[in-house]
Amino acid sequence: MNIIAIIILIALLFDFVLNRLADYLNLTMLRDDLPRDFEGVYDPDRYRKSQEYLKVNTRFGWVTASFDLIVLLVFWFGKGFPLLDEYLRAFNFGPIICGLMYMAALMLFKALISLPFSIYHTFVIEERFGFNQTTPTTYFLDLLKGLILAILLGTPLLAGVLSFFEYAGANAWWLCWIAVTLYMLGVQFIAPTWIMPLFNKFTPLEAGELKSAILSYADSIKFPIENVYVMDGSKRSSKSNAFFTGFGAHRRIVLFDTLIRRHTTGELIAVLAHEMGHYKKKHIIQSLAIGIIQMGFMLFLLSFFISYPGLFEAFYMPRESVYAGLLFFAMLYSPLDFFIGLFMQGLSRRNETEADRFAVKTTRDAQSMVDALKKLSVHNLSNLLPHPLYVFLHYSHPPVLQRIKTLLVG
Ligand SMILES: [Zn+2]
Repeated sequence: MNIIAIIILIALLFDFVLNRLADYLNLTMLRDDLPRDFEGVYDPDRYRKSQEYLKVNTRFGWVTASFDLIVLLVFWFGKGFPLLDEYLRAFNFGPIICGLMYMAALMLFKALISLPFSIYHTFVIEERFGFNQTTPTTYFLDLLKGLILAILLGTPLLAGVLSFFEYAGANAWWLCWIAVTLYMLGVQFIAPTWIMPLFNKFTPLEAGELKSAILSYADSIKFPIENVYVMDGSKRSSKSNAFFTGFGAHRRIVLFDTLIRRHTTGELIAVLAHEMGHYKKKHIIQSLAIGIIQMGFMLFLLSFFISYPGLFEAFYMPRESVYAGLLFFAMLYSPLDFFIGLFMQGLSRRNETEADRFAVKTTRDAQSMVDALKKLSVHNLSNLLPHPLYVFLHYSHPPVLQRIKTLLVG
């Protein structure tokens, strides 16, 4: 084993152990008595159910993470990477096509082995806790559409990246950076009108009390919106949400039908005020900019490592190639990605607090936001008392009790 292999192996094991430790600590936080803020909102039975939901999901996470790690290690040390390479090279398709096939084969393999787990999660766990609304037909149609979309959108992107690193020499990384950035922005631009309607139905919110309340709130904070859409989230899950998509004229507010059904107008305005807060406080632009910078940094590093022999030796590859270099570099990059991810989560939690504050300040109605958060947590069986390490590793939002405290105290 060379130094690259040792680094990647240690990173994989460290990640696994750290996550299991966080899971374990998270479970030790479970208490029988309900936190004071939730008295009268959570009935004791449902509270116990939320703890059971956490335990079941933690156990499930344990099984999938162990399985994934074992499969990867067996494939790696069983020389799966060179075997697949040898097999595909025999077709003599040239480096780009061969690279596309190599990546596609690995992705398909990964998707297939994780399929039983995904089916179990949707139709057994989510079903048992009353969240699943998906029919097997919808589930498999989603898979099929996702696969076609991945082929249509992923092939040109990957072919482009491979071509740059194959033919553009020292300029490859920054040419690639510009191309990938434009491509990603393009995809985000067309997503609300071309991609998302493939999976859900979006209907304009009908005129009425809610719509006029939303428009007049948006007007009060000088946030012009053309229309509000309702999405049939209930087609898949009873969990609810609200979000924004697109930029400029394509920008739209989307409310899940499940959200509208369960909340008062005041609560819905609070939720939307929070979402608009993300725009007003420039969080969307911020994360986009960080993402673009991060990608440039990664591609720059990639340009040094892509033809480094040690990278190929680590995976027993006798012959170097751009596609395999790209894949192995991604694994070597994962420890760095881990720390960047932690930073991004921390930033996200800070932004969520800022958006909450924005909502309270502009609606002058902290109580509606608190009520909305409580209802959402109870309905979604959220864990009220996550362990700080678990929050540090996984939470994009502050835990709900902390959010409530910030909303009420300021
Ligand atoms: Zn938010």
